[in-house]
Amino acid sequence: MGAGPVGALAALYAARRGYEVDVYELRGGTSVSYSLRLDHTDTFSDLRDASTTPLNFTKSINLALSERGINAMRHSDSPKLLDAVLSETIPMHGRMIHGQDSSENLTEESQQYDVHGRFIRAVDRANLNKHLLDELEGLPNVKLHFFNKLTGVDFNARKAWFERKEAPPQTVDGAQADQDQQPANRPQEFEIDFDLILGCDGAHSSVRYHMMKFLRMDYSQTYIDMLWCEFNIPPADEASKHNSGKGSASATDGFATSPNHLHIWPSDDKMFIAIPSTDKTFTCTLFAPASTFAYLQDHSDEASILAFFQHHFPGVSPNLIASSALHAQFTTNPHLPLISLKCSPHAFPSGGGVILGDAAHAMLPFYGQGMNAGLEDVRVLFSHLDAEAVERRAGTRQAHTEAALQSYSAERVPDAHTINDLASANFWEMHAGVRSPLYLFRKRVEEFLSDKAPWTGFATQYARVSFSNERYSEVTRNVQKQGELLLRGFVGAALLPVASWAAWWVWRYNRASGTGRVALKGGVGVGAWLGGVGERIGRIFT
Ligand code: FAD
Repeated sequence: MGAGPVGALAALYAARRGYEVDVYELRGGTSVSYSLRLDHTDTFSDLRDASTTPLNFTKSINLALSERGINAMRHSDSPKLLDAVLSETIPMHGRMIHGQDSSENLTEESQQYDVHGRFIRAVDRANLNKHLLDELEGLPNVKLHFFNKLTGVDFNARKAWFERKEAPPQTVDGAQADQDQQPANRPQEFEIDFDLILGCDGAHSSVRYHMMKFLRMDYSQTYIDMLWCEFNIPPADEASKHNSGKGSASATDGFATSPNHLHIWPSDDKMFIAIPSTDKTFTCTLFAPASTFAYLQDHSDEASILAFFQHHFPGVSPNLIASSALHAQFTTNPHLPLISLKCSPHAFPSGGGVILGDAAHAMLPFYGQGMNAGLEDVRVLFSHLDAEAVERRAGTRQAHTEAALQSYSAERVPDAHTINDLASANFWEMHAGVRSPLYLFRKRVEEFLSDKAPWTGFATQYARVSFSNERYSEVTRNVQKQGELLLRGFVGAALLPVASWAAWWVWRYNRASGTGRVALKGGVGVGAWLGGVGERIGRIFT
């Protein structure tokens, strides 16, 4: 259910295993020029049409694609898929932190993501989705059904109901509108039977909603007090036309600032970020508290918005975005909320359904992991289904699917909760940690150990999350262990001079006092031990 990145990849995995797959998707484009294999006679286009706006997103959102998402595509038995996707990505080797020094000169500081040179990639979400759908379209056992909205599921009877429609209305945050808001001529309804529903229908999942009616599912959701709005930095030549040749010091290759970084303008409780696109533009996001958005809406003239940006995000405008464009983008682009949700379990007990991706764990975007984690869900789910298929000797297919879904849910829930928490915590790292000396010191020590003493197994949390496939729950366990070891090391290192000095005094004292020498010979008690150590250290230092 759902033909977003997670649903499309899940369908591909299922199809490659020989299942008959029907992909139902609420959205579709508006053009009639592109005809896709539909199961009814209309020739609508699908969500690959550029006119389609994704739910909860604006049209052109760029995402950070990292190892987990790449690995999930690597295991999809579609050799050309990954090459096609990666060929349209831009490597981002680190963060570029923008600011201003005490003389009000603009500053840029590059912070590499990884001591071993690994990087994340900027990918156009719509393009990635398109490649996945293209791959599906060529498979004989896959049917794609656009403009089909899931309205009901009975997991026990294994029946689902849909509305076939043309232009679904959307709520303020892009979610599907309530049925009461539908036009008078109601869309056509139909029913299907199914063996297994893979619910990949996003944060406002209908599959999850219906699963909760049949299942004791724990569920929590939070809207954080922050909104986001998209902006766009044009290519360098266009930017300089409007901004009298200004740009950023790291501008290169026709980009207005370095294309190989994720750019961050940190500012107290808000931040502005920019991710490169292959057309030499940057997709930018302003994250700020709702009260800041309210303030800007009350002061939405061009001069006020420019002044706000110059104060909080120096160097953005007019250097990279002309003041008029900044104003136009703030006033016309939607101001969208950020939701974080957790639920457990992710699967229906009798094996009829499972939720994946944002449907199971929509998270804040600050670790760049939402889609990566969703794609990883697919790989992990099918590893459980495959393992059950190998084990299957007696019993029905349904019993084994049920067992696979239960073991999947048991493994994945703690991992989903963990990355959800890490994503929430990472807002601090992005807007404050990147300037915190303690944070940077720990990062450097961990990177040093990872590089020069790989046998220690040390790696930064970021590297474990973004460049490995280690379970998220193990990442936090390992990072915590590392932290404890480092703390002990730092405390030990800090205490060493004090201990050495104390030991030296004990040794001096022992030399001067007969009692002390007796105690030393006895070798008992802390004083004696210190004396022994002191004697040895003392010999070195005197
Ligand atoms: P969606 O992309 O939401 O797809 C769900 C699909 O289901 C949609 O096509 C929808 O139309 C369809 N659907 C919904 N309801 C129904 C219904 N009733 N019937 C039929 N179909 C239905 N992730 C990263 O990995 N890296 C990043 O850098 C990153 N940056 C982000 C930045 C922002 C500002 C935001 C908001 C998110 C970011 N994410 C990032 C998260 C990422 O975008 C999502 O995790 C990802 O898109 C989820 O994919 P999905 O397929 O699970 O859900």
